[in-house]
Amino acid sequence: MRIDHLIDGQWHAGRDYFETVNPANQAVLAEVARGGAREIDAAVAAAKAAFPGWAARTPKDRARALHKLGELITQYVPELSETETNDSGQTIAQTRKQLIPRAADNFHYFAEMCSRVDGHSYPTDTHLNYTLFHPVGVCALISPWNVPFMTATWKVAPCLAFGNTAVLKMSELSPLTASRLGELALEAGIAPGVLNIVHGFGPEVGEPLVSHRDVRAVSFTGSTATGNRIVRAAGLKKFSMELGGKSPFVIFDDADFERALDAAVFMIFSNNGERCTAGSRILVQKSIYARFADRFIERAKRLKVGDPLQDDTIIGPMISRDHLAKVRSYIELGPQEGATLACGGLDALDLPASLKDGNYVAPTVFVDVENTMRIAQEEIFGPVACLIPFDDEADAIRIANDIAYGLSSYVWTENTGRAHRVAAAIEAGMCFVNSQNVRDLRQPFGGTKASGVGREGGTWSYEVFLEPKNVCVSL
Ligand code: NAD
Repeated sequence: MRIDHLIDGQWHAGRDYFETVNPANQAVLAEVARGGAREIDAAVAAAKAAFPGWAARTPKDRARALHKLGELITQYVPELSETETNDSGQTIAQTRKQLIPRAADNFHYFAEMCSRVDGHSYPTDTHLNYTLFHPVGVCALISPWNVPFMTATWKVAPCLAFGNTAVLKMSELSPLTASRLGELALEAGIAPGVLNIVHGFGPEVGEPLVSHRDVRAVSFTGSTATGNRIVRAAGLKKFSMELGGKSPFVIFDDADFERALDAAVFMIFSNNGERCTAGSRILVQKSIYARFADRFIERAKRLKVGDPLQDDTIIGPMISRDHLAKVRSYIELGPQEGATLACGGLDALDLPASLKDGNYVAPTVFVDVENTMRIAQEEIFGPVACLIPFDDEADAIRIANDIAYGLSSYVWTENTGRAHRVAAAIEAGMCFVNSQNVRDLRQPFGGTKASGVGREGGTWSYEVFLEPKNVCVSL
């Protein structure tokens, strides 16, 4: 199979191609066009030319096309989820039941929302002030390889709904489903040039895109290191930066133990642990620490690692050989730093021959971790949990905040006052109380500190995809 760039509604062959492989067995899935500045220039020019027409369409008209796109995604859930699983290693249980259906929801949600963009008015005795919202223009949308389709649609849907046009750059490691998105967008009646897709590598495609003078806004999801690079390369533009995390999952001794245990296992091991909002630092009050650690380890040992196309697989392969090496390097580092390896580790997997070429790693649990260790401070982005004991509420808050990141957080307690106090005190863009990460599309998604700038979701998406204008009329 060959995957080409989509520019102005036409498929453009690459001057060169690279391979995307299945992380479960290294089979080549497709040859993907390798873009560069020339393709970015053409795609941005197409998006710029398409902008006035798309922005002038009524919100209702744009909504019709976006609803249609959502319906097409729903229609193709089986195909899209299988492609996504093959390309990214995310398990079929996740892609089919959650990730691809949620992509359809993104289009329906923002289709509903775009005709309801409201402003504010501030009348005085002498003047009437009111706000108008205009689309921004050409937007650069850049996605990572974990949950690639969902993340891309999370950007494409509000971007297009509010009347902008886009150049989408997927991760070079998982570009396949987005290419289908381009086809389905055309089928849904989204005009040529409104959504352009250029494939390739970050420095070759991403940098010319974000630094292009006709690009007005950058919506980026990826690592903190790349985010920093993009901000420097892009210059003055509107930004939404959704970056890395190392989120605290805090369990007090009065928590509903079984529910907290379920959620803790889910938040670090689902999506192969390749999840920005993973509860990767599990802080447990000392009075229940030993009991919790025993049960958590027992659960981790039972998780099925293997073929991501099988319904009962919980942990599929890491996205790439490089990423596998990175995850393994942290598993090696833990004991050197003084942490105790309680389960998993480098040699724990005993997989059948059919899986021997996959990028598999065993679910790994480190106990008695100090928050200052690198395994607790750095984003591993794999199925590696760090259990950290704490004394009391103040100690929990101190440890939770002693980190460069601030994406998500989780608090488990039956004490209502404490739940609210801790939720307010934790430095993070999101806090889930007695809950795993449950996405409500109306709420602000994003992080603080090294986890990002800006928020997306609901009216929070105005910030990057709409330009507010104050109109002041003398009465
Ligand atoms: P990455 O930063 O390596 O790459 C992300 C995207 O940026 C890719 O498409 C890549 O090609 C592109 N890119 C790389 N260099 C670039 C450059 N110089 N200019 C422009 N674009 C460039 O991240 P990744 O490894 O693909 O994804 C994993 C990271 O993403 C993790 O840190 C994870 O926490 C983060 N993430 C964050 C969120 C969130 O919402 N906060 C969600 C998912 C993933």
